[in-house]
Amino acid sequence: MKKYFLSIFFAGLGAISVSAQKSIDQKVTDLMAKMTLEEKIGQLNQYNDDITATGPVTKDADKAGQVRAGKLGSILNAVGVKNTRNWQDQAMQSRLKIPLLFGQDVIHGFRTTFPIPLGETATWDMNLIEKSARIAATEASAYGIHWTFAPMVDIGRDPRWGRVMEGAGEDTYLGSLVAKARVKGFQGNGLGNLDAVMACTKHFAAYGAAVGGRDYNAVDMSLRQLNETYLPPYKATVEAGVATFMNSFNDINGIPATGNKYIQRDLLKGSWGFKGFVVSDWGSIGEMIPHGFAKDNKDAALKAIIAGSDMDMESRSYINHLADLVKEGKVDIKFIDDAVRRILTKKFELGLFDDPYRFCNEKREKEQTNNLEHRKFAREIGAKSIVLLKNQTQLLPLSRTTKKVVIIGPFAKATVDNHGFWSIAFPDDNQRIITQFDGIKSQLDKNSELLYAKGCNVNDKDTSMFAEAVETAQKADVVIMTLGEGHAMSGEAKSRSNIHFSGVQEDLLKEIAKTGKPIVLLINAGRPLVFDWASENIPTIVYTWWLGTEAGNSIADVIFGKVNPGGKLPMTFPRAEGQIPIYYNHYNTGRPAKNNTDRNYVSAYIDLDNDPAYPFGFGLSYTTFKYSDFNVSSTHLKGNQTLDINVNVTNSGKYDGDEVVQLYIRDLVGKVVRPVKELKGFQKLYLKKGETKTVNFKLTPEDLKFYDEDLNYDWESGEFDIMVGTSSAEVQTKRINWEK
Ligand code: BGC
Repeated sequence: MKKYFLSIFFAGLGAISVSAQKSIDQKVTDLMAKMTLEEKIGQLNQYNDDITATGPVTKDADKAGQVRAGKLGSILNAVGVKNTRNWQDQAMQSRLKIPLLFGQDVIHGFRTTFPIPLGETATWDMNLIEKSARIAATEASAYGIHWTFAPMVDIGRDPRWGRVMEGAGEDTYLGSLVAKARVKGFQGNGLGNLDAVMACTKHFAAYGAAVGGRDYNAVDMSLRQLNETYLPPYKATVEAGVATFMNSFNDINGIPATGNKYIQRDLLKGSWGFKGFVVSDWGSIGEMIPHGFAKDNKDAALKAIIAGSDMDMESRSYINHLADLVKEGKVDIKFIDDAVRRILTKKFELGLFDDPYRFCNEKREKEQTNNLEHRKFAREIGAKSIVLLKNQTQLLPLSRTTKKVVIIGPFAKATVDNHGFWSIAFPDDNQRIITQFDGIKSQLDKNSELLYAKGCNVNDKDTSMFAEAVETAQKADVVIMTLGEGHAMSGEAKSRSNIHFSGVQEDLLKEIAKTGKPIVLLINAGRPLVFDWASENIPTIVYTWWLGTEAGNSIADVIFGKVNPGGKLPMTFPRAEGQIPIYYNHYNTGRPAKNNTDRNYVSAYIDLDNDPAYPFGFGLSYTTFKYSDFNVSSTHLKGNQTLDINVNVTNSGKYDGDEVVQLYIRDLVGKVVRPVKELKGFQKLYLKKGETKTVNFKLTPEDLKFYDEDLNYDWESGEFDIMVGTSSAEVQTKRINWEK
C-alpha cells in the first residue's frame, strides 16, 4: 500500500519514481516472480458483474471474496465509478494488490449513442468513424471502464446474421480501414491516457461467415478464402496497435476458434506478431464441449490455453482446472506465463499499477453524461450515415412550410428502438433520445402541423390501429412512414430467416399507399432488409439504420435538406432472402448470366433476377454528380510502376453535396479465379453545386496481389480492368496491361 501511495506522490510531482524507470517488461517479470501458480491463473479469469451499475457492489460475496483471494483478473459489465471503485477496493485487499481490468461492450457510443457500426460505415468517412470511437472512449473511460469489446471487424455477407449491425459490412478493403479507424479512436493517444480505452478486435476469426447466417454456426471455407476475404481487417487492427483480441464462438474448418492453435497462436501471435492478449468470447471455452471438441471443462481448458486463449470469459474452466493441468504436467507453465505476461503488461500500460483508481473520477463521470458536444457530433454522424435509396419524384427535401405532415409507424415516437442492440446499459438514456416525431416537429414551420398515428407495433399481428392511421393519412400533404425492425431484432443471437419489415408493417404501408398521398418511407434497421414491395411501389425511400441518441434530429436534418444525404451502402441489399449470401465481389461462374432475362442453363435462379435490390456502394443525393475525363496514365505498365487514375466529378445538380468516388479493379485471368470487382480505393468529396474536382487514385502492384492455392501472396502479369464510379454497379472501365 505504501509503495503505491509513494508512486502516486511522485507521479503527481511529475518526477519519475524509481520503479517507473524500469521497463514494463522488467516490472512484469518482477511481479510474476512473486506470484503463485493460483495467482497467475487468477489473472486469466474474467467474470461478469451481475450487479447493475446502480446496485450495491458487494452483493455477490463470493465474487468479492475471489477478488480478495487474487482469483480474478478482470470483470465485465462493471460500469460506473462507484461500482468499479468498490471492486478495485476488493482487489487492493488481495496479497499482491494487482488491479482489476474492467471491460464493457462499448460498441457505438456509450451514454451518447451513435449510429450502429454498419450505419456509421455508410459514411465512408474514416475521420468521423474515428471520432465516434474517440468520444465513446472518452465517455466510457470516465465511467471507470478500461477496455471495450470493440471493434467487431467480422466481414458479413449474409444479412440473415443479426450481427452485421456491429460490423462494417461485406467488403474487406473498406472493413480494414474502418477497423483501423475504430482502434485509433478507442485507443486515442495511447494506453495510459485517461481518455483511452483498450480496443478489442473481435471475433477472431471469421465469425461472420456462419453457415446459413445462423449465429454461432460453423464456418467452413478454404484457407485461401479466409486469407483473401476475412482475415485482412483483423490484421489491419494489429498493424494499428490494438491492445486485445477476442476469439469467436464458431469453429473454423472443424476446429473451434477458441481451441484453434493455428488461428490464435501461429497466425495472430506468431506471423502477425500480436503482443496483446486474447480473451475468449463469453463461455466459449466451455462451449467446446457441446461443439464436440472437448470432453469436459478440464479438457476445454487444456485445449484453449495451448491454442492461445489467454483470458477465460465466464467459462470458469481456467480457474477450476488449469492449476491441476499444470501440476499433472499436461500444460507447460510457459503457456500460463505467456498469458499472464500479456495481461499484466496491459495493466501496467494503462497505468493501473501507479493508481488503480485513476479511471474512477466522479467529476469526469458527471461531465460525460448528456454532454452537448457529444450530442452535436451524434447528430452530425447520424445524418451522414443515412442512405437515400430512392427519390424518384424529388419529393425530398421537404419544405419546412409543408402545411400538414403526418408521421405514421412504430418508430415515430420510439425511444429504445433508435438505439442499437448494444446500448441498453442505462435505462435513462432511452429518455434522452430525440424521437423522430420530436426531431421533425422541431424543424417544421410554426404554421405547419405534424400529426401522428402509430399504425401498428414493431412486431405483432395487431392491425387494429390501421383504420386510425389511414384516417390520419387522409389529412396529409405528405406522409412520413417509419418502419423497419425493432432494436432487439438485429444483434447477437438475432438471426432472421425472414428479413422483411417485422409484424404487419408492410400491410400497413400498403393500406397507407392506397390513400394516394405522397409517402416518404424511412427504414430503421440493423441490417439490409428485404422490402421488394416498397421498392417497386414507393418512390421515396430513406435508409436510416438505428441512429442513436440524436436519431430524430439527424433524420429531420436530412428530410428538410439541412444535410444532403451522402451515405453509401456498405452491404449489398438483396431482393429476396433466397439470393443470400449476395455480395458484389463474387467470382464469375463458367456460365454467368448476361442479363436478368438470361435464364437458360446459366448461373441464375429460374424465379429471381441475380441483381440485388441495391448494390454495394450505392446511395443517392439530392444533387447529381457527373463523371467525366476518366483516364489512366498508361495502358501498358511494367514492374513496380505506379498507375495514376484520374476522373473529374462535377456536381451537376441543385444542391451542394457529398459524393464517394469508388475505384474497383478486376484481374481478368489468374491462377486462381478473381472477383468480378474488388474495391481498391475511394474518396469522399464535398462539392458545391456547379463545382468540379479531379480525383486521383494511385495503384501499385501491391494492390494487385492475391493469395493462390498455396497461400502465396503475389500478383501476376496480365490484363486488368480499372473501374471508377459512384457505386459498385455504376462504373466506367479502362483496360490495362501490367507485366512483371
Ligand atoms: C459476444 C461478444 C461480447 C461478449 C461480452 C458475447 O456474447 O459475442 O461480442 O463482447 O458477449 O458481452
